[in-house]
Amino acid sequence: MDFQQKDLERRPKIYPVFLPNLGCRTRCIYCNQSIMTGETLPDLKEIAQSLQNLTDVDEIGYYGGTFTGLKPELMEKLLSVRPDIPKRISTRPDVIDEHVVEILKRWNVKTVELGVESIDDEVLKNSKRNYTGADVLRAISLLKDRFEVVAHLMTGLPSDTRAKDLESVRILINTGVSLFRIHPTIVFKDTELEVLFKQGLYKPQTLDEAVNILAEMVILIEGHNGKVIRLGYHIPQSQLKYVAAGPYHPSFGDMVRSRVVRMIVERFGVKEIAYSRRFTSWVKGYGNDKMSVSFLEISDEDGIFLDGTPFSDMLRRYSESIKY
Ligand code: SF4
Repeated sequence: MDFQQKDLERRPKIYPVFLPNLGCRTRCIYCNQSIMTGETLPDLKEIAQSLQNLTDVDEIGYYGGTFTGLKPELMEKLLSVRPDIPKRISTRPDVIDEHVVEILKRWNVKTVELGVESIDDEVLKNSKRNYTGADVLRAISLLKDRFEVVAHLMTGLPSDTRAKDLESVRILINTGVSLFRIHPTIVFKDTELEVLFKQGLYKPQTLDEAVNILAEMVILIEGHNGKVIRLGYHIPQSQLKYVAAGPYHPSFGDMVRSRVVRMIVERFGVKEIAYSRRFTSWVKGYGNDKMSVSFLEISDEDGIFLDGTPFSDMLRRYSESIKY
């Protein structure tokens, strides 16, 4: 399956249930789920009632905390509501074991969104994630043949570097992970990271730095037949006042996609880009229209071609040339 086909796949309709910080045994340095999402912990009876009446959804997603850090009885209580609808849960690598896997399997969990964030031990320690890269690999080996695994990665964490971000991607691809969400670290108010930032002990990435590194990560992943399904945070309008610093932009994902196109053009000296209209923002957005290439709009759904070569082939060529 190539890039264009993958982009045309229908996305599942997910009914999200936010459980802010529920099941988290420690607090990561950058995290305050309530201010990041604007959600408060719902009453469990209310959750059950709202789920009972659901129609026309493909999955129920439990987000915003550490689902498998909950007591097994509570996990099963939440999963047993509407057993006919597949579930997706978000969790951390250090609370995955055989017993947990057995519960998730029993209750129709299809997808595990795994907050990896980095494979580098120093980054994980300084971000107070409280697990190691080895724990990540152990968790993935337990999950990967039984569930769809979506790995979450972050850039710009304390002690992080471009080389560490790319190495995290490389290791995860080698373990067989193919779906990713990636976002740069944003400094939210009322977090430990905000204190470090105010003391001058943490320097956030600039927007340009974040866009560049995420573009390289996208190329590495999608050049190896993986897919990045989300780039950057969605922060509700009401919560923007809690962003203290960091590379936030409401169209961050499109900025990264545009940068990917520009990097390929510059690396290979591309002279002509043929593209279908739905890719206009990727091809011509964020300054790309100033590139000295010819732009040619083609019939819908055809995708992107650079000097006649399909975009997916260019991603593959570029990914093979990334050095770090
Ligand atoms: S595990 Fe996730 S939800 Fe829990 S404190 Fe860390 S970042 Fe926040």
